[in-house]
Amino acid sequence: MSDLSFTFQLTHTDGGARRGVMTTPHGTVATPAFMPVGTQGAVKGASHRDLESIGAEILLSNTYHLYLRPGDDLIARRGGLHSFIGWNKPILTDSGGYQVFSLAERRKITEDGARFQSHLDGSSHLLTPEKAADIQAQLGSDIAMVLDECLAHPATLETATASTSRTARWAERARARMLQLRESPVDGVIVTNKGQAQFGIVQGGIFPALREQSAHDTVGIGFEGYAIGGLSVGEPIDVMYETVAHTTPLLPADQPRYLMGTGTPEDLVEAVARGIDLFDCVLPTRNARNGQLFTSEGRLNIKNVRYAEDEGPVDPSCQCYTCRTHSRAYLRHLFAVNEINAATLNTLHNLSFYLDTLSRIRDAIAFGRFESFRLAFHQRLSRQSGGSEPPE
Ligand SMILES: [Zn+2]
Repeated sequence: MSDLSFTFQLTHTDGGARRGVMTTPHGTVATPAFMPVGTQGAVKGASHRDLESIGAEILLSNTYHLYLRPGDDLIARRGGLHSFIGWNKPILTDSGGYQVFSLAERRKITEDGARFQSHLDGSSHLLTPEKAADIQAQLGSDIAMVLDECLAHPATLETATASTSRTARWAERARARMLQLRESPVDGVIVTNKGQAQFGIVQGGIFPALREQSAHDTVGIGFEGYAIGGLSVGEPIDVMYETVAHTTPLLPADQPRYLMGTGTPEDLVEAVARGIDLFDCVLPTRNARNGQLFTSEGRLNIKNVRYAEDEGPVDPSCQCYTCRTHSRAYLRHLFAVNEINAATLNTLHNLSFYLDTLSRIRDAIAFGRFESFRLAFHQRLSRQSGGSEPPE
């Protein structure tokens, strides 16, 4: 028998926004939550100690990268990903599909799965729905994702239809494998987290009828939670919001909903308004390394000469270590001289801003004030965007 210890409890709703608690084998996560992205088992520019200090409750890690290096067999022998990387809080792993699909000419999709060549050494691999489940079982994340077909935007209705139905067939195979892994040993796969949950993924591009079909099929298979995939891939922002608004009511109200790969702070607020509970995105960490900082009044580019002698903090409203300790002038200097601390201090601030935004969203929902929070949030940003900072 499995000892699945994954639960989700909604504690408050406010319009379409929801606040809840997700319980996993490695602890609880207050939702709506943002997951920092730890591609290689580490969040670029931030130590686990930093992440704990700013209240990160869950990390995302990438199956594709860990499968290739150091390999899921090695990680399983080290007791699983939590033990290997020294992070004892929840972890979600993706299926690896997104990276494989982005390999373009180095991959070939068949009904069986995705055949691809490693970007490292050109070696050939086959990622099937079963293999993606096996790798994640060995990694032992708290939440595993099914392998889905990631459709590029734009796609014709015909292509999107074929892709969406393949994703549904793959989801069935992934679920069957997961249930098998929970019950008994399979082909030498070491299950390092017996409480691992599995989320299905709703695809369908920007076509409402396909989203409906995909939600119907995916919910019909039955997972511990549901993700909305295939957005933030270049479609207009209002189309993304409409697609989320159209899809969330099709998902079970008492299970978590995860919007994959999104987005800007504004996107998080808007997606929460449409019923999303979980997010991940590389924006705060990647932009930090490029000198772009998110603040309550919009983005600022620390490279800008106007900050050369600016004694103020990055964001006067932010309580993070970077903002409490350092001036914009110092951070600009560190960036200009290519000092490694520029990346760590900027990353700490950007992630703090994201996590703090989610924390304030949760408070607003609990007090029934989400709409006024949302309005004030956008008003503050729009004041800045009419201001003097030129775009990059
Ligand atoms: Zn800060």
